[in-house]
Formats: sequence, C-alpha cells, structure tokens
Amino acid sequence: MKQNNKGNKHGKKFMDKKNKTKQKNMDSLEKNIKKNASDNSTVKFVHAGQEKMSGKKRLGKEVKKPMTKEEGQLLLNKVSIDSYKPNPNAKVRIIPLGGLDQIGMNITLIEDDDDIVIVDCGTSFPDDELLGIDLVIPDFTYLKENVDKIRGIVITHGHEDHIGGVPYLLREMHLPVYATKLALALIKHKLEEQGMTENDYELHQANFGDVVRLGNIYVEYIKTNHSIVDSAALAIYTKAGIVFHTGDFKVDYTPVFGDAIDLRRYASLGAKGVLAVLSDSTNAIKPGFTMSERVVGQTFEQIFSEHKDSRIIVATFASNVDRVRQVLDKAIKYGRKVAIEGRSMVQTIDLASQLGYIDLPANAIVDSELLKAYTDEQTVIITTGSQGESMAALSRMANGSHKKISIKPSDVIVLSSTPIPGNEKSVAKVINELSRKHATIIMHETHVSGHACAEEIKLIYSLLSPTFAVPMHGEYRHRKEAASLAVSCGVRGENALIIENGDVLELSAETAELKGSVTNGKVFVDGLGIGDVGSVVLRDRQALSQNGIIIASMVVDTRSRRILSGPNLTSRGFIYVKESIDLIDECRDLVIDVFNKCASMPGKELDIKKLQIEIRMELGQFLWKRIKRQPMILPLIMELEG
Ligand SMILES: [Zn+2]
Ligand SMILES: [Zn+2]
Repeated sequence: MKQNNKGNKHGKKFMDKKNKTKQKNMDSLEKNIKKNASDNSTVKFVHAGQEKMSGKKRLGKEVKKPMTKEEGQLLLNKVSIDSYKPNPNAKVRIIPLGGLDQIGMNITLIEDDDDIVIVDCGTSFPDDELLGIDLVIPDFTYLKENVDKIRGIVITHGHEDHIGGVPYLLREMHLPVYATKLALALIKHKLEEQGMTENDYELHQANFGDVVRLGNIYVEYIKTNHSIVDSAALAIYTKAGIVFHTGDFKVDYTPVFGDAIDLRRYASLGAKGVLAVLSDSTNAIKPGFTMSERVVGQTFEQIFSEHKDSRIIVATFASNVDRVRQVLDKAIKYGRKVAIEGRSMVQTIDLASQLGYIDLPANAIVDSELLKAYTDEQTVIITTGSQGESMAALSRMANGSHKKISIKPSDVIVLSSTPIPGNEKSVAKVINELSRKHATIIMHETHVSGHACAEEIKLIYSLLSPTFAVPMHGEYRHRKEAASLAVSCGVRGENALIIENGDVLELSAETAELKGSVTNGKVFVDGLGIGDVGSVVLRDRQALSQNGIIIASMVVDTRSRRILSGPNLTSRGFIYVKESIDLIDECRDLVIDVFNKCASMPGKELDIKKLQIEIRMELGQFLWKRIKRQPMILPLIMELEG
C-alpha cells in the first residue's frame, strides 16, 4: 500500500491561531513588504509552506517557537499588491496535474524557480469500468519530488472535484490550506472524518479581497458566482505576470445568496495587465448566458403549485447549497415537511446551516423514518443521486433497495442538475428505473448550470484581456471551444493554448513554451487503501462482474497422485447450473483429464501449482470455445497426504 501517514506523525501546531487572522493594518503591511524586499529568505515569513516541508526543520526547535505577529501574517490586504510589477524576463510554469481529460480531479500548479502554489486538489468519481473503486485522486509524484518548493494550497470552492483530494495530499505532506469560509468548513470536515486532528493540518480562511502570500507568489481572492456559495476566482501574482484562475464560475447578476461576481475587479486587473487566464470551459460549447440561479426559484414555485397532491422528491448535488435552500424555502411556503436523504446531503446542509448559509426552522425537517406520519402532499424529500451515482439515495430508491423510501406512481421526482458529461448513461438508467415505477419525472427547466456559457466566458476574456488563454476544467472539445472564444475576444490565435494533464507550460511576457511533461495520472482509492488497487485487481473485478466465476474444488493426495474428493464445480454469476448441467459435467470431466495429465508428469510429487495453472488454462479455453465467455476460474485444491 502506498499510503503514507507522514502528516499524522508530527503532532505539532505550526501556527499560532491568533497570528493567522487577517490583518488589514497598512503600516504593518508596508513593513512586511519592505522586510521581504530586503530579505530574500522567505523562510520565516512563509512559515507555513517552507519550514514544514524540509524534514530537518520540521523536527527542529525553530518551528516550535511561536511566531511573531508579522511572521504569522500570511493574509495581506489587497493594497499590498498595488505596487506589483511583473518582470518581463521572468517565467512562470503552469502545470495541470488533472482536470483536463474529464470534468473532475482539478489540480493545477503555478510554479516558478523558487515556489510552487497548488490551486485546488480534487477527486473524480470512478466510471463504470472501475469496479469497487470509491474515488479517484491525482498522482502526487511530482509534488512529492518537489515538496521543498510547495508553499501551500489555495482552494477556489468547496466542490469535491476541487477539494476531495486535499486529505490525501495532506497525508503525504504538511501544507497550509487557504479557502473561503464554506470550502474551509467542508475541508475541515473531511480531514476530521479521516481521523486527522488540528495538529495535522493548518487551515486558513481567506475572504474576498484578501491576498495570500506564498513564497514570492501572491494570490488574491476575488468574488465569483457558481453553484456553491463562497466561490472564488484567483488572481495569482507571479514574477512573470498575473495568472488569473477563474475557478468554476458563471456570471450571476442576481444570485440567490451573497453578492454578484466582482466584475469591477476583473476590469481593473485587465487594465493592470493579465498574463494568462485559466478558464472554466465546462459549458463553453453552450451558446448564450447561463440563467441566474434565481430563475430556479420560479420553476420550483411552479412545480410546487402544480403538484399539490403529490410527494415531491428533489435530487440535486449535495454541494449545491443555493439549490437546496430554494427547495427548502418552497417547502416551508407550501407547508411541507422536508426529509433529507444521502449522507453527503445531510452533512452539507448541516454545515451550511451552522455557517448561516441556510436557515433551517426547527420544525421544517423530519427524519425519513417519520415520513410515514405525514401524507404525501405534506412532504418533500431532498436527495443525492442526480448524477445517477449507483450508491446514492436516488438510485437506491429507483431500484427498490432503499430501506425507508419506495417510489410510488404518484411521486413527482425533480432531477435538478444536468448530467455532467460522462454521467449521462448512469442518469438515463436511474430515469428508466423511476419511469418503470410510473413516477412523474421532471428534468428540464429546473436546471440552471453553475458554469458559464459562451457569452459569459467571452465577457471574462474581454474584461481581463490576457496575453494567453489556457482553458481548463473540461474535456478536449470544451477546452477547444473556450480557446476559440478567447480568440474571438482578442487573444492571438497562437496564444490560445490547449494543453494536457502533466504538461509543463512555461510563460513569459511574450513567449509560451511546452517544457515536456511531469508524472500525472489517477490513483484509485478503494475503501481506506490508496493506490493499492492495481490493474490486475481491476481486471479481476471486471471479469467477475461481466462473466462470473467458476470454482473447481478438489482434495488430492500429492504422493499417490490421486483425487480423494471432487472435483466439484461451482459457478456464480455465470450460468444457471440447472440449465447447464451438461456443460458443468463436461467441465468436471475436463478437470479430471487435466489432473490425470499432471499426475503422469515426472517428479517426486504432484505439482499443485502446475495443476492450478493447467486447470485455469484448459477450462478457460474450453469455455471460450463452447460459450464464448471468459469467467474467472478459481481452482481450489486441498492437499491431503494419503
Ligand atoms: Zn464547482
Ligand atoms: Zn469543478
């Protein structure tokens, strides 16, 4: 197992909590900047990132010493970067370790000669081929090799495809994590779920307008809109120029919660000069504008008023706090009780209400167990599973394996999120199962994406007018379209760059060069193990799921080379034994033949290993010839000395 618990071993606090709080005092800011200008060794200043990384220092006394206020000041005010000027000869490298071959597992490195900053560290969900794999996380090899340069992780927002990998990375190395309030709470929850305590991690809240200093790279948090509150875009100030990371975004002038995207800041950065924009491309191939989340409220209003006599089940992303909030509002308005289904949904709603993002009147929520006490028209169920995830609550309701809720023909089921590319098949499957139960399914209209369509992407490129465009967050086709949108907004054709995971893109004020690629890929997380499920295990699981298994068991005497009992052939998931007695008989005869063949081979004793291999091979060939199937074949041979 590749698992490494470095992060847990040193139970030391690296940061005085009080020191990490943001300070907006201009005097001390100036002092800091001066201090840094004169002192190139940023070790003290960037405590969080640097000292912990090198093993020696980590154990040294230096770190235990509480930091002074100045040293601990990692969050600066926006003012501090007003004097920022890029160096025309400097270079910055952009290295996506994930997120470019699919939607999911986003992680991008911003690197110069001295420092690396990690933007997001997400997971993706395994596709159907990856049986029994719970999660897919990025390959951290390159990060482990360059651990001394990494100054920290900056998070754009709290979606799984951006934060899911953080606990796994923190097990490998100790790094400070910066995120806005909700994302930070979600990360903290994850870390604690994995048994990590406050000594093992270092989390900092960043507010909009804050600038995080990470080595000589500064990261400014800028308000954007997306389907989860507190989403940020990042202006990353490197020596070579500003790299603007849009995060996942849409332009919502009338969001349900909080402020609209800070377009003024985008414009002023554009005026300052932006080197490169790394943009969300998810919806680039959709023309026009994404509707405001507020529109969803109107649709729900209609659904609730038209289906007053039915139970309403709404499936959406657990993390779409705004959407959940709107359903809750309508439920309360129409006097319905709400039951929440799905572990991640329960957790998110819990956290969001603790942080004040959702107002939950005490009597509005009921436990699913108690739903029976109410009539259908008095209840709403909010559930996970809108992406057809096979283990999610909605899938279990659809296929009848949910313990508490079974679908009735009178149910109205609202699928309130469009399938993410790649999930279409699983979603269709769930819809089929729900339709078979004669429930009413509402799919359209309710969906308002959290991602920008073409016109919004153009707006952002127009405001920022970067030298380079590097589309992110999407499959090739999405990124290609985003690149041409950037070109239509004035980015030069040769400067709209489509790169792949692992590519090292080096930019300077005038040049863009691909400098090879670094190790990247997917690591499978299976239960608690990380990376211990190799392709062989996966192949076995696949064979099992598709073709079943045949077990050939017998007891043999190796000395006298005789079969003492058996062979018995058992099959699972392969053929109906009753209907194929003949076939099984033939298999048994074949196993006996193979045994006899092996028994007549020279040698002191019967070679069990050889026998197993032969049975597997011969039986495999026989079954393939007869029925064109390749079940897994498991010879179970017990030795008894006669
Ligand atoms: Zn997102
Ligand atoms: Zn995303």
